[in-house]
Amino acid sequence: MNVGSASDGAKAVSESHPDSFKEFDKENAERSGTNKENTKGRMRPWTIDDFEIGKPLGKGKFGKVYLAREKKSRFVVAIKCLDKVDLMKNEVMHQLKRELEIQCRLRHPNIIRLYGYFHDAAKIYIVLEYAREGDIYRHLRKMERFDDKTAATLVKQLADALDYIHKHKVLHRDIKPENILLGTEPGSNENLLLKLGDFGWSIHSPDSRRTTLCGTVDYLPPEMIDNVQYDNNVDIWCLGILTYEFLVGKPPFELKTTAETMSHIKHCKYTIPEFVDSDAADLISKILVSNAKLRPSLKDIMNHPWIVKNAQEKLNFLRT
Ligand code: AMP
Repeated sequence: MNVGSASDGAKAVSESHPDSFKEFDKENAERSGTNKENTKGRMRPWTIDDFEIGKPLGKGKFGKVYLAREKKSRFVVAIKCLDKVDLMKNEVMHQLKRELEIQCRLRHPNIIRLYGYFHDAAKIYIVLEYAREGDIYRHLRKMERFDDKTAATLVKQLADALDYIHKHKVLHRDIKPENILLGTEPGSNENLLLKLGDFGWSIHSPDSRRTTLCGTVDYLPPEMIDNVQYDNNVDIWCLGILTYEFLVGKPPFELKTTAETMSHIKHCKYTIPEFVDSDAADLISKILVSNAKLRPSLKDIMNHPWIVKNAQEKLNFLRT
């Protein structure tokens, strides 16, 4: 289905809004304990005037993400503002609607909550859980690479989030450091947790993945390059690339041209530096195989000796 005009598309988005809004009312009431009006039932949909907008948190393909606070509840969120004209030009309004509907229903400590969405004449606003420490890409660039404990803890948490979405028949298909955020446990300001974000938004536009953002195709699995049918195993491939990038500081297939990178991915041509722990190297080489069916399951990954040996209960780094 293609949406005829910006206002039609926005209407379709807003029509599915009330349930997620109700959910957020409940959440606000629980957190503030004061907003009695919220517990009485459905309220009017949000508008941007219900929020105080703070600093910009980042920039995506179709708009910006801002820190914000809902005025009534004082609840802090991140708001993604997407430009309707850009969405229409790129014919992605219907995809956005579908992905919002999916993400609204996901509940997992390692997945960014989507509280609701609304629109005005120019923009669609998506109200998201705020991840205090931002995306992991920035931290990785600053620290160059992570130690085994940090990397294994992150990989385990991401594997758990992927296991959850796969059980709900959802593929992410755009796992990369830019889409992985660091937030806190619900109800705690202290314990850091990995939070999978940008949910499925880039799913349906593989051409616009890292090509547009940073000119690379580093995370593209061989089966996507070959344009053959793919399944959950594409996310597992990306988990392998991510494990490598966490430990080495750059992805395994990083060549001068896109064509060379793609050729190396297709033939799984990469090397693991000597300094990488032999158990970690074992896990990476089991995941990064061209035959998707031979990759380990997420459960196998979570039970791999390198994860068992290194993954911690809590992430205790990155206080910036
Ligand atoms: P996106 O449009 O999802 O690609 O987001 C662009 C950038 O905004 C990300 O790389 C993050 O740095 C930041 N960002 C996105 N969502 C959040 C969030 N929920 N909390 C904090 N920062 C975010």
